[in-house]
Formats: sequence, structure tokens, C-alpha cells
Amino acid sequence: MTSPLSLPTDQAASGRTLGQEEIDLLTEVITSGTLTATKGAQTPALEAELAETFGVAHAVALSSGTAAVHAAVAAVDPEPGDEIVTTSITDMGAITPILYQSAVPVFADVDPRTGNVTADAIAACLSERTRAIVVTHLFGNPCDLGPILALAEARGIPVIEDCAQAYLARSGDALVGTLGAVGCFSLQQGKHITTGEGGFVLTDDDALARRMRVFVNKAWPYGEASPDHEFVALNYRTTELASAVARAQLAKLPAGVERRIAAAERLTKQLAGLDAVVPTPVAPDDTAVYWRYPLHVDADRLPGGPDALAAALREVEVPSAPRYIQKPAFRCRVLAEQRTFGDSRFPFTHARPEAVDYADERFPGTLSYLSSVLVLPWNERFTDEHVDHLASALAHAVAERTREAR
Ligand SMILES: *Cc1c(COP(=O)(O)O)cnc(C)c1O
Repeated sequence: MTSPLSLPTDQAASGRTLGQEEIDLLTEVITSGTLTATKGAQTPALEAELAETFGVAHAVALSSGTAAVHAAVAAVDPEPGDEIVTTSITDMGAITPILYQSAVPVFADVDPRTGNVTADAIAACLSERTRAIVVTHLFGNPCDLGPILALAEARGIPVIEDCAQAYLARSGDALVGTLGAVGCFSLQQGKHITTGEGGFVLTDDDALARRMRVFVNKAWPYGEASPDHEFVALNYRTTELASAVARAQLAKLPAGVERRIAAAERLTKQLAGLDAVVPTPVAPDDTAVYWRYPLHVDADRLPGGPDALAAALREVEVPSAPRYIQKPAFRCRVLAEQRTFGDSRFPFTHARPEAVDYADERFPGTLSYLSSVLVLPWNERFTDEHVDHLASALAHAVAERTREAR
């Protein structure tokens, strides 16, 4: 029996890297009296540091990861009823912005081993009306972007990368978030780095950058000659307080990511002898950054699958999430019942029937992935002792459940 050992959590100080560096920059902001990003020094400094870190021409800081995806979709400027292909396993913040821009999200199936959307599944969803593709690098494991980018290029449409879980993840040598037209990031409490709420977008495209910057400012182009409110848009600005914290957090990001990877490699080695659980595969040329640590539970070897394993882990106070999201995005009421603006069902009223066909047969990868995945919490503050504790808790739980089954 493994005795309980409390794991650092990203919901509180134990699992975060917030400290004096953040406090010092916050003090500067408070002392300056300028809290708005439109007049302060922290937000432009943060944007310059982000552009430099990722090696891109433009970064725009904004209020959330959802706002980041919304800015990216708004920059693409779809016509009502145009389609944006996305993935069935992601955060709702990557989907609802599509509806707010009057476009129809079309869900592509995922690879049952990684939960990442695939080029083949996207290809099956493309139509005359497709205006963009949104991919999510799930849990920080890069999608196989090469063939997805090729598909998009052949059509002349942009790829938007949702990197909320994938800070500094690499596809070959390239950082994810710099390969598509726009990279979207979240600074929410539970991400690799945090300001509580917040986010940013990255792009090398001057026109997309301007449009996103204007979009988060109620379409008012600050600093330009004869400005006007140019189109329908919201206030998705960040604040100087958030930008100050983000700058201090950004400086700590590389070390945090390295630690997450090293800790994950340690656990992966220790799980090698367990047949019933298989860590999510990472492609040989890719670097996954472990926002969480997902594994597959083989229900043929471990009866009850992820639910049974999660229950066994709970007994030794190890938290885990079977299925990650309880159901695919398209089974949530907003999509399943088309609950949008009043009773209009807009923009679904403009959708091709095939685009909103959510029949199980169309999503074998999604359903298989969700029924086999168990997600362990992961953190840059996990010590080797924490990792060893997790490994032995898993080994015990697997042994117990497989023995019971015999
Ligand atoms: C967290 C997350 C978002 C949304 O970010 P918020 O800052 O919470 O709005 C979007 N996509 C993915 C994949 C996420 O993990």
C-alpha cells in the first residue's frame, strides 16, 4: 500500500512558480498608476518578449485563451455559414469563438492513440465553404502538422494552432504556435504559466496581426492616423497587472517546461513494465511538454478500464481524470441542441447537413480515445519523489485490479 503524499497542484502556490519577481513588477505597475494596457509599458514589453521567445514578428496579449482563438477567427473574417474545421477533443474556448463569428464548427475525428486531430480526418471534413482549420496540441503533444499545413496550403486557407496546453512544444526544431498562420495561448490558472486569466496570439503575418490587435480594442486602431471603429469587435484587452505577472512567468517558462519533460520521462520509464497502461506516444521528432500526463488503460487487461484505475488511485489520494472531457465537444448542449442566439439557432441555420452530423460512426477515434484515456495531473514542481510515488501508486493499483479480475 502506498501512503498518501500530497502532490503540488496548479490551483495554488504549491504547484505554481509565482514569487518575488512577479511582486516586483506588480509593484512597479501599481506605483506607476497606469493599469491599462493601452497606456502602460508592461504590455508592449511582454509582447516584444513573446515575439522574441517564439521567434515571430508579432505577439498580441489579450484577456484569455478563448479571446485568443476569437481574435484569430475574427481575423480570418468568415462569411456567415462558412465552415471552420476543428477537433472533437478540446476546450470549449477553442470552439465557441467560431460560432460568435457566425461560422459553423465542423468536427474532425482524432487519432485514437493521441487524441490529436489528423490530416486524414480534416481532409474528410473539407468543403467549398471551409475557411480555416483550428488544431489543438492536446496535453502539449504536437499534432502531426506537416500534412495538415499541406492540406491548408493547397486550399489557400489558414491553420490556427491552439497551443494553450503546448508551451514550447516542438515539431522537429520548430516551436508549435509558429507553424500555422496564428498561434493561440492561454495564461489561465492551470496552464504552464499563468496570470490567473489571460492569453496571447502569435503571428508572422502583418495583416492578421493588425486585425487581431484592432479586434481586441473594439476595432479601434490605437496610434494610427484618423482612427475609427472599423468593424464589430469587443474589448478583449489584457491589463498592465496581468502583463507584469506574465513577463515574470515567461522568464520561468523554459525551466518549468524542462522539469515537466524530465519528470515525465522518469514516469514513462517506470511504467514500461506495466502492460495494462501505455503512456501516450510522442512522435520521434517531436517534443511534448506535458501539460498533463495522459495514459491509455487497456480494458482487456484491466477490467473497468480508466474508471476502475481512477477509483483505485483515489484510494491512495492520487487524483486523475478518466476521459479528460466527459464527452466530445459536439455532445455538449451548445452544439447538440444548437443553443446560440435567442431561438434562432444561427449560424447552424446556414450549415450543410453533413457539417453538423455528429453520428457516432463518424467519430471512432474520438470515442475510442475518450474511453481509454486516464489523465494524471502534471506539474513543474513535481520532484522525483512525487513521480516515484505516482509510479508506485499506479503499479499497485494495476496489480490490485488485474488480480481481482482473475
Ligand atoms: C485552456 C484552454 C483554452 C481556453 O483558454 P481560457 O484562457 O481558459 O479561455 C482553449 N483551448 C485549450 C486547448 C485550452 O486548454
